[in-house]
Amino acid sequence: MADLRNCQECGRLFAYQGKNRCRKCQENEEEEYLIVRRYIREHPGASVFETSEATDVEEEKILQFLRDGRLQSRGFKNVLECVSCGQKISQGRFCDNCTNQLAADFQKVAQPKKPRKQEPEPKRRQTDRIYTRGKDEG
Ligand SMILES: [Zn+2]
Ligand SMILES: [Zn+2]
Repeated sequence: MADLRNCQECGRLFAYQGKNRCRKCQENEEEEYLIVRRYIREHPGASVFETSEATDVEEEKILQFLRDGRLQSRGFKNVLECVSCGQKISQGRFCDNCTNQLAADFQKVAQPKKPRKQEPEPKRRQTDRIYTRGKDEG
């Protein structure tokens, strides 16, 4: 069954396939991404503002590309904030510290440090007797 949702971008109803935007908006975004990427390749020192002005792509979109780790440019230094501690970063969602911290936390979750308690095997060896001899037999 199709999961219909409203596109986050244009509000149109569309068949949800893991993205919050309809196909049209995704294509638009892809186009904008390519334009921005080409621009910063030709203008490596351009700031986000300059890039936005030159490409007509919203600054917020450009920042989104950065957060997604799709873009990288010398001119885009420290334009984002770590979503955890707020430190200025150039790419992604977390600063190096928080990335390491998260990785450490993840390790802890993945491999609990507590030594596994040796639980005694429940003794369930005795076969249940189906036929029991009546006490009064005989
Ligand atoms: Zn849309
Ligand atoms: Zn941080």
